[in-house]
Amino acid sequence: MKAFDLLQPESLAEALEALSEAGARERAVALAGGQDLLSELQEHLLEPQMLVSLRGVGGLDEVGAEDGGLRVGAMATLADLARDEVVLNSWTALAEAARSVGSPQIRTQATVGGNLCQRPRCPYFRNEHAVCLKKGGQECFAEGGLNRGNAILGGGPSFIVHPSDLAPALVALDAGVRIAGSGGERDEVVEHLFTLPSEGDVTRETTLAAGELITSVKVPAPVDGVRSTYLKFQERASFDFASASVALALGVTGGRIHHARICLGGVAPVPWRCERTERLLVGQVPGEALFQRAALDALEEAEPLEHNAYKVPLAQGLLRKALRSLT
Ligand SMILES: Cc1cc2nc3c(=O)[nH]c(=O)nc-3n(C[C@H](O)[C@H](O)[C@H](O)COP(=O)(O)OP(=O)(O)OC[C@H]3O[C@@H](n4cnc5c(N)ncnc54)[C@H](O)[C@@H]3O)c2cc1C
Ligand code: SF4
Repeated sequence: MKAFDLLQPESLAEALEALSEAGARERAVALAGGQDLLSELQEHLLEPQMLVSLRGVGGLDEVGAEDGGLRVGAMATLADLARDEVVLNSWTALAEAARSVGSPQIRTQATVGGNLCQRPRCPYFRNEHAVCLKKGGQECFAEGGLNRGNAILGGGPSFIVHPSDLAPALVALDAGVRIAGSGGERDEVVEHLFTLPSEGDVTRETTLAAGELITSVKVPAPVDGVRSTYLKFQERASFDFASASVALALGVTGGRIHHARICLGGVAPVPWRCERTERLLVGQVPGEALFQRAALDALEEAEPLEHNAYKVPLAQGLLRKALRSLT
């Protein structure tokens, strides 16, 4: 690991100043729980001159009620979310997603902001000797190589899947993020925090500008009669990233579905919202035939690579199971 300076600011203004003064992205990098960043440094994927630790920045780790909804500081840990009974009861998908991440040790250190901004797990990205497209090279090695864990939806020219479990849950719950930078604060829906490789800069996964930080996440008040769940399939039972996952928020009144938000994880470079499938469900009477139609519809555009076609029936099965569990 290359030597770097460690700055430990006590205020957000100080942290933002350090990040913006350093100028170019990757010269100074924010350090949260370090669960991803430190392994990137060890693997020589990143060699910043300075780490700006967010640990001492006051107020970033608070979790509390706001306008009937939930405000979660970017430095709140996944363990904070996983054990919060209010979160579990009102925003179940979020608590379930947090509980599904890694191991108890990882959840104690890993933060909400870091989970959303973690880098991809594609084996070529993690190999310092493989200079693929995402690292400024000329080709995507996964497209014709090891691609068991890669994207079946929205891929190209890079085929990463976004590794965050929180992100699909937050999209299904219609959450937003507050972002701070040297120019001030802005709010963004979580869905628009992420960017497809085909949308511009293939080296990035988020729309954050250089020097910007997520300061909190806002989850709106639960919609009347709507419940949510997060289901994840992982190859290793102890802890693993999602091979595929489904976050679902669903409401049924008078025997008909009145609200549906679906987001798939582990299958695309971004949390993959299924808006057409949501429209297919709303107004319908829940039942197995409808769930089967929804599952086929959600994966209709899937274009598996050589080794990951298994993700199609896997994601379909998870969606059917989630629909069953909330009706
Ligand atoms: C063994 C193992 C298993 C794992 N399993 C899972 C899993 O099943 N599901 C899952 O979702 N994740 C999993 N993870 C990933 C883990 O959840 C993330 O590494 C962790 O959430 C990152 O959070 P952190 O606070 O440690 O971030 P850091 O490692 O400190 O930072 C990660 C990145 O985010 C940036 N960053 C951090 N905070 C902010 C902020 N507030 N604003 C802007 N940028 C920021 C950093 O600059 C860095 O680029 C696993 C990790 C390990 C090591
Ligand atoms: S999927 Fe992305 S990270 Fe993986 S090899 Fe292709 S370009 Fe690189």
